[in-house]
Amino acid sequence: MPRSTPLDRVRNIGIIAHIDAGKTTTTERILFYTGRNYKIGEVHEGAATMDWMEQERERGITITAAATTAHWEYAEQRYQINIIDTPGHVDFTAEVERSLRVLDGGVVVFDAVAGVEPQSETVWRQADKYSVPRICFVNKMDRMGANFDRTVSMIVDRLGAKPVPIQLPIGAEDRFQGIIDLMENKAIFYMDDVGKVQEEREIPAELAEKAKAARDYMLEAIAETDDELMMLYLEGEELQVPELRRALRAATIGNKLVPVLCGSALKNKGVQRMLDAVVLLLPSPLEIPVTKAVRPGVDSEAEDAEFIERPADENAPFTGLVFKIMADPFVGKLAYFRVYSGKLETGSYVLNTTKNKRERVGRLLQMHANHREEIKEVYAGDIAAVVGPKDTFTGDTICSPDDPVVLESIKFPEPVISVAIEPKTKADQDKMSIALSRLAEEDPTFRLNTDVETGQTIIRGMGELHLEVIVDRMMREFKVEANVGKPQVAYRESITKSVDIDSKFVRQSGGKGQYGHVKVKFEPSGEGEGYIFVNGIVGGVVPREYVPAVE
Ligand code: GDP
Repeated sequence: MPRSTPLDRVRNIGIIAHIDAGKTTTTERILFYTGRNYKIGEVHEGAATMDWMEQERERGITITAAATTAHWEYAEQRYQINIIDTPGHVDFTAEVERSLRVLDGGVVVFDAVAGVEPQSETVWRQADKYSVPRICFVNKMDRMGANFDRTVSMIVDRLGAKPVPIQLPIGAEDRFQGIIDLMENKAIFYMDDVGKVQEEREIPAELAEKAKAARDYMLEAIAETDDELMMLYLEGEELQVPELRRALRAATIGNKLVPVLCGSALKNKGVQRMLDAVVLLLPSPLEIPVTKAVRPGVDSEAEDAEFIERPADENAPFTGLVFKIMADPFVGKLAYFRVYSGKLETGSYVLNTTKNKRERVGRLLQMHANHREEIKEVYAGDIAAVVGPKDTFTGDTICSPDDPVVLESIKFPEPVISVAIEPKTKADQDKMSIALSRLAEEDPTFRLNTDVETGQTIIRGMGELHLEVIVDRMMREFKVEANVGKPQVAYRESITKSVDIDSKFVRQSGGKGQYGHVKVKFEPSGEGEGYIFVNGIVGGVVPREYVPAVE
């Protein structure tokens, strides 16, 4: 059976956002518009951590799936969009990094009131590291205090990017009514709150001047990236929409420009157009740099390392990268992987070159908004999950046994915080060990060991919230209740000077302390910046990966 969607119509994307910016709501709307019977559920109010985990679980398996496959039609062509989950909390930056590794483009969601928040900065820099092309969606335009222009300025100031609005909002707060499409030079009014009835109109007179200035800025920014368009532009020629789109697409994929859109996911405004932009502006697997691998045993960082190219071609040997292990309530262990080259059929064998183990591929699944699909084959450029592999974990390369290679693996930071843990009832000791081992299998940044002196079990992770999630999952999924000790920071550097606190310590992070973006001086390793928790640990940091709290 050939692949159902041609590869140039596949998009592997992540919805990237600071917690609370509206990632869940936006994702739900995407699943609603792309699916047939998916109901819009109520998402959580506020950011209370337990609340959020509870909700995620109650919302069912598909929205928590590591990758969900959806279809979207544009200009009578059907596109397949694989949405790869990227967690929004600072404590999970390692997880964000692993999803960035396998996606080809991102939709960065901002809250139009809060603008660019600390976590958006961290993720933005991670996306830069992997050269992930992005579009921005300025969400919550209906909220009191929403400000599109300010958010765009923050994208320049805080992220050092070159944003190009391709839309403007019509009104804001409770008078947010629609969007000006600067490319097409027209206004779209939303006539209801469910996004069903839309009317195309002339740009309202009071916005005509602003829209013209924004359009001129857009034209110039696009022309600057393309010599031919620049000639026409300088000659005063009218630039045509198809040409502009082609150039903007190239500039977005080349990470020269970041198109900015706006809307309100909650009020069903702008999400459909954002999906159009995903299709129009973000790359297919054929447009990303060709994947490189080495033979097993070759150090990919050595100067004379010989690389083998693995093109996104289904006739090439099979190569895939496992990016997430998940315990599924229905089928057990699932390993989500991205196929870089070749194809994989059920019933065949793969070689896990990271572990040097053969695995049989019994079943393959693809997750949709409200159902899971058993598939027989999966092709280059696509994403699927294999059921129940024994020895395969996150970061492992799986490939055709006849042509073994290793993809550049995902690097995980060392845990920075540890706590002692014991079951509430002694009899649960074995159950707790099993539970913790299982959770450690899923999560490469979570470790456990036994303290030689005291015999206590010590768990280690990326932050307090991270370990809280582990303890909570142990209780819910394995029915083991545990007592935990006081968190210990893995290593300490003393902060000698804290300078330039450019955001206030006002934001509650999952109910656990507060943080802000600070520039600090460290002993002994120098100067750097990071996100500091007043009473905890930190994420996304230079010069050391994590720094302790301000004392
Ligand atoms: P996440 O943490 O990024 O997944 O954010 P959620 O999607 O859960 O949204 C956080 C909160 O913002 C929830 O209370 C949502 O109802 C609310 N929210 C999301 N999108 C919008 C929006 O477009 N407008 C308004 N006013 N609220 C929104």
